Amino acid sequence: YAGQLPPLDPHQLTLEQAAERVEAAGVVGMGGGAFPTQAKLLRSAGRIDTLIVNAAECEPYVTADYRLLLERSEHILRGAQALARCLSCERVVVVTEGDKLNAVEAVERRLRRRGGGRVQILTVRTRYPLGAEKQIIQTVTGREVPPGGTPLDVRCAVFNVATVYAIHDALFQGRPLTYRAVTVTGGAVTRPRNMWVPIGTPLRHLLESCGGLREETDRMLIGGPMMGIHLTSLDAPVTKDTNSLVCLASWEHKPNTPAGVCIRCGKCVASCPMHLAPTLIRRALEDLDVDKLSRYHLEDCNACGCCSFICPAQIPLVETVAQASALVKRGVSIL
Ligand code: SF4
Ligand code: SF4
Repeated sequence: YAGQLPPLDPHQLTLEQAAERVEAAGVVGMGGGAFPTQAKLLRSAGRIDTLIVNAAECEPYVTADYRLLLERSEHILRGAQALARCLSCERVVVVTEGDKLNAVEAVERRLRRRGGGRVQILTVRTRYPLGAEKQIIQTVTGREVPPGGTPLDVRCAVFNVATVYAIHDALFQGRPLTYRAVTVTGGAVTRPRNMWVPIGTPLRHLLESCGGLREETDRMLIGGPMMGIHLTSLDAPVTKDTNSLVCLASWEHKPNTPAGVCIRCGKCVASCPMHLAPTLIRRALEDLDVDKLSRYHLEDCNACGCCSFICPAQIPLVETVAQASALVKRGVSIL
């Protein structure tokens, strides 16, 4: 913990200073990856023409990023502009969902007041998984990240809105990353809400602050219902990449039934945002056909869960694709 640091001068700020400061402040990617931000900054410098500030929630139920954009848009815009200057980037696009009108208005008002410059706001449809990195890039720039590639391959960098806020605080307020916004929600929660909490707070305390459970939950998740990690205990702490605690009531999710037989309906293929064919991957995995699997672009799977969600046979396709990917990468079966 670096403690309070002296604020930096935005007009004299260099890339090296910014990278050093965000490292000292412990800033990491807060959208789920927890990748060290200073490494991302240094890697992106001079290689991008578009900086995307992602405030489009990547999961249903989660609204922490929206709330942050609504309440702290001034800081976020300052942080984004400082980043753009350090990275020599021409265009900054703040992306949020189209139904978050008050957040859009708040940003537009501030852009009008301060003169937008290279910053603009763009809305995307509220449709899962349009908030995912590769989908956002395609929506904003029309460019497609190549299979196995990264946003840098199409001259883009995507920073989660909470990360940009933390960068602003580290650079211009001298504050290390010790707090974050967390959504506590789900049909089983008495008073769902967004909270500003110290990192390290036990999840149990968050739930207690929301009045506890109003009905029994049989699914507690860190993250959203599609990609979240199942919890067995609320003793786990809030970490830098914890954006939500979701407690689902039994009526909010499909019952856990054993997987059935594939009926070749093709719904998994139609639903995959990365244009993969989960049903073919499943068959190739059953045959342990590594040659075939290696042609299926498994590295493009973002684990969004759409295929598993849509499958009428309840086949756990996300896990299947992950197993296939492990088989191809390491040449070992984890079946
Ligand atoms: S989880 Fe399924 S739907 Fe999502 S990208 Fe991977 S294969 Fe496609
Ligand atoms: S959605 Fe399920 S049942 Fe339909 S083709 Fe895909 S794996 Fe088979």
